[in-house]
Amino acid sequence: MKVLKFGGTSLETAERMKSVANIINNEEKKIVVLSAMSGTTNILIEITDKLHKKENKEAAEMIKNLELDYLTVVDELYTDLEYKQKGKELINYHFDYISSFTRDLFSIHEERAVLAQGELISTALFHNYLLEHKINSVLLPALNFMRINTNTEPDNYYIEENLKRELKKYSDCNLFITQGYICRNMYGEIDNLKRGGSDYSASLIGAALEVEEIQIWTDISGFHNNDPRYVKNTYPIPYLSFDEAAELAYFGAKILHPSSVFPAKLKDIQVHLKNTLNPSEPGTIIKSGAEGKGIKGVAVKDGITVIKIKSGRMLLAYGFMRKVFEVFESYKTPIDMITTSEIAVSVTIDNKTYLNQIVTELNKYGNVEVNDDMVILCVVGHNIIEQKGYINKVFEALKNFSIRMISFGGSRHNISILINSIDKKNALISLNDLF
Ligand code: ADP
Ligand code: ASP
Ligand code: MG
Repeated sequence: MKVLKFGGTSLETAERMKSVANIINNEEKKIVVLSAMSGTTNILIEITDKLHKKENKEAAEMIKNLELDYLTVVDELYTDLEYKQKGKELINYHFDYISSFTRDLFSIHEERAVLAQGELISTALFHNYLLEHKINSVLLPALNFMRINTNTEPDNYYIEENLKRELKKYSDCNLFITQGYICRNMYGEIDNLKRGGSDYSASLIGAALEVEEIQIWTDISGFHNNDPRYVKNTYPIPYLSFDEAAELAYFGAKILHPSSVFPAKLKDIQVHLKNTLNPSEPGTIIKSGAEGKGIKGVAVKDGITVIKIKSGRMLLAYGFMRKVFEVFESYKTPIDMITTSEIAVSVTIDNKTYLNQIVTELNKYGNVEVNDDMVILCVVGHNIIEQKGYINKVFEALKNFSIRMISFGGSRHNISILINSIDKKNALISLNDLF
């Protein structure tokens, strides 16, 4: 059995959906995980934003426009009149549900249910397309098996038990379609695995079933050595280890959800990144033992805030760091980078939801300074910190930019450097030129 995940970019148009159907139409037993069509989740977020602000007229207009786009997709996707009609009814049903909130009260629970509509629609449309073409398949509702716990972490035991139970109902079927991204939380409400979470769904499903391979299909031929949105002449990395891929994904490589490597690593299942637009390209294989030599890739994480706590009196005292970290822990805010000196400690965060509260509490321990608008560059390669010369090359490439923080030695595979966001693009280009 394999898991094949197709992202929004692979489902951007009716034509692309048809290409996906071609890719999966063979005898191999598989679970196909689909995201929403490209752009849908962004628009649904804008709609929920308007609904929260009670801008119901604007929300209604956006809902209507999105529904019209989907009706065009329906028309292009199906040939048979019966399927065109079925598709239209399906779209009307989902959009009537979304529209109901322009008249009713709207809460955070309903927001998540609205965000789930993208994946519910794409999978139903796709499954009907397979039925129209007599391709035997089962639509497996992710909401029946994908669940997160109180800490918003996947409930692996529940996922495995319930997924296996669902699959047992269809022992003669080889092709299952399910939704990425969406899940239930511990209260049974509809929730999600955060933006880009379909990769994570695929990996969790793959790990639960201990599949042979997890494939992530997107619009580019594998994991590139640098961010192709900012740098020209990037190229796909043929092999990455789980740790290298996890570092790059965590530090901003959009091609993979940051948490998606871990479940695959735990069960030692290889992850193959493939291009839907060019299926014969080899892509990237992420697996254990794929270490290789030298610098393999660079990624960039946006929207970083640095918090500096300056305190001559307390820094050397034991227990000081614990108190500082407890403040972040109590606001469930992860820290990405840390540096210390005799009189100050600086940390970075990318979630500013509780920034004001965190600063207020940290003020008890010293003077607090906050700097916004930074990015973390992350340079990754197997054992690069132990191999001579790489750190010099990195600094040579960055000699024209002001560096605010460096993290070296936290992992053997990663050098992280904090710079101003205005330097992001040029710093990425400079690193690419050098390597
Ligand atoms: P999907 O809809 O398939 O999930 P995403 O947009 O989430 O697709 O991810 C694919 C995109 O990630 C690519 O189109 C590319 O622009 C971007 N990207 C960023 N960094 C990298 C990288 N290092 N390698 C490949 N793609 C990257
Ligand atoms: N549709 C969701 C998003 O846009 C999940 C995903 O694409 O992976 O974030
Ligand atoms: Mg994605």
